[in-house]
Amino acid sequence: MENTQFCYYGRIGKLNCSWMDSNLGRRFISCECYGKLGACGYFLWVDPPLCQRAMVVISGLIRSLARQEALVKKEKRKVACFVGCIDH
Ligand SMILES: [Zn+2]
Repeated sequence: MENTQFCYYGRIGKLNCSWMDSNLGRRFISCECYGKLGACGYFLWVDPPLCQRAMVVISGLIRSLARQEALVKKEKRKVACFVGCIDH
């Protein structure tokens, strides 16, 4: 791969996507052990920072999606319970 990044330990960097509110959807390359014991600390942003408005809109969409997914999960449980009731 032409643009391969290597961490400080010489391992191939791992492409990740941030889900932190301050950097939603922003890609970065890090040590493959990022966030774990043994990580070397290598970190490189791939994408530029988002503007404040984009972060507000994206975080709102993510919260909306989470609410919708929770509703779908709740309805699936109701259907499963109903199907369970009529099977017996
Ligand atoms: Zn590393």
